[in-house]
Amino acid sequence: RRYCSAVDHSSAAPAGLDPNVPHPARRYNYWLGGKDHFAADRASGDALEKLFPKVRDGALANRAQLQRATRFLAEAGIRQFLDIGTGLPTADNTHEVAQRIIPDARIVYVDNDPLVMVHARALLNSSPEGRTAYIEADLNTPRAILQNPALRETLDLGQPVGLMLIAVLHFIHGDGAARPIVRELLDALPAGSYLVATHATSDFGTPEQQVLYRQLVEQGKSDVWTRPKEEFTALFDGLELVEPGVVPASEWRPEPGAVIPERSDINIWTAVGRKP
Ligand code: SAH
Repeated sequence: RRYCSAVDHSSAAPAGLDPNVPHPARRYNYWLGGKDHFAADRASGDALEKLFPKVRDGALANRAQLQRATRFLAEAGIRQFLDIGTGLPTADNTHEVAQRIIPDARIVYVDNDPLVMVHARALLNSSPEGRTAYIEADLNTPRAILQNPALRETLDLGQPVGLMLIAVLHFIHGDGAARPIVRELLDALPAGSYLVATHATSDFGTPEQQVLYRQLVEQGKSDVWTRPKEEFTALFDGLELVEPGVVPASEWRPEPGAVIPERSDINIWTAVGRKP
């Protein structure tokens, strides 16, 4: 089974869930070909797809990068992961990829969408040797994440942690707004920890597309706050960038023989950095 879901949507919705408001997790699930989305999510996804016809390729490229980078970290000896912006469970989630290499790896999943939390608790089950935990919290309040008892019980912050911020930082709106959040999280992690991030960008669009996109955001029709390469790269200040540095998501250590899509079809930056 490629995509799975064991949650019955016909029963009462979890508190805080409004099916009439598009949510990023459900829209992304729609683009990935999953089945956990409502009409409002599909409408929002279709509207963005009109402007970016290859947006589904971007979602797949992002997901593939999550998996490649998780493998890279596990192979580098990382045994603990803090995955903020979990998304709805789909194929090869962070703990599955990590535990294939490090069976007793420990993963803390964080998301601010109550539906994601319901699915995550039901479906993101650890290997018997390892451990997973779930925290409903907002990336805007890193301290609440770091001080959460479930995180403290699951992760040893004296040992290196892989901080996964995959397709989530672009929901932090405002010039320069992502950096202090990333700083605060990294400051809590010891040397040898890694940051993996992917981030939507308008860098590859034509000037016309960039203007159009800006208008969509200003009109509240897109919730994705794109960032240029320099601002994304600055999130890694003080870290050692792993080769090949800051690249489009599909160009970070691609599988041999992989067909590399046009950058303007993917529109996502990625990088992996190690805290010295
Ligand atoms: N990381 C996964 C899912 C990305 S979809 C992947 O790349 O495959 C983005 C996720 O971030 C969604 O699940 C959404 O609910 C979550 N999210 C968006 N804004 C957030 C915030 N401020 N705090 C925590 N999670 C957030």
